[in-house]
Amino acid sequence: MNTVLTLSEPLPPPGRRAAHDAVKRAKRLRHQVGRAIADFGMIEAGDKVMVCVSGGKDSYTLLDILLQLQKKAPVSFSITAVNLDQKQPDFPAHVLPEYLQSIGVDYKVIEQDTYSVVTRVVPEGKTMCSLCSRLRRGALYAYAEDEGFTKIALGHHRDDLVATFFLNLFFHAKLSGMPPKLLSDDGRHVVIRPLAYVCEDDIAAYADAKQFPIIPCNLCGSQENLQRRQVKKMLDSWERETPGRIEQIACALGDIRPEKLSDPKLFDFLSLGKRGDDGVPGAWLTGESIAHMHGEI
Ligand code: SF4
Repeated sequence: MNTVLTLSEPLPPPGRRAAHDAVKRAKRLRHQVGRAIADFGMIEAGDKVMVCVSGGKDSYTLLDILLQLQKKAPVSFSITAVNLDQKQPDFPAHVLPEYLQSIGVDYKVIEQDTYSVVTRVVPEGKTMCSLCSRLRRGALYAYAEDEGFTKIALGHHRDDLVATFFLNLFFHAKLSGMPPKLLSDDGRHVVIRPLAYVCEDDIAAYADAKQFPIIPCNLCGSQENLQRRQVKKMLDSWERETPGRIEQIACALGDIRPEKLSDPKLFDFLSLGKRGDDGVPGAWLTGESIAHMHGEI
């Protein structure tokens, strides 16, 4: 007997399907950014938010979504887009101002020649990104302070948070990452990462659909450092073999059980199951008792 398979609902033509996916993606991004803002208390009434835009897909997406959410937000806050022109060779200085003007957002371009500093200080062939980012951060933080911005919004996303976690684990022997909200080391700035729940693929597709005028970051000719490249390669291959693994790791970063790890600074193992009031005998620390037991002293 022949079996005839019928689809209850015919698939929409490819163009319509792509448009449908884009609408769903935009909705998902707004939802994830809104949730991150709420979960971490990123924005409150009266905040002056400085959104750092580099011309890359992440910061364009961040600005775009924040502007959409601003219209429906339960609190009133201001947004200013700020770009640092680092004087890289061939930097198309007109692209960002033209775009920012076209969308009608308040914006500022700061000019500071960090490129010359970086190329002078970093030996040839070495990656310049770490010093470059530090100088960029310094210039942007200083501007935020001068202008009284209460929050600095950066475009790091979920995959950046996961990659930083593994960089710290593999190369610095610590369980530490890139938090969605952070007080700067000098205690003067609150940095927020509203894209903390958004995956990079969604950002890339969103930026593509929106046709943001992307400016590449590597006009300076620098490459990502080897450690970051290694981690990225590892995460990409994990995701290929086990789709959903990066999301699982990202969820784990927000569900930490200090009592199941080994850091006595985070969990009071000393008091756990303790029967007496005695402190820790010094002999445990010096190893004397054990040496006695083994007749070594
Ligand atoms: S690629 Fe160039 S501009 Fe981008 S962070 Fe690295 S050194 Fe700076």
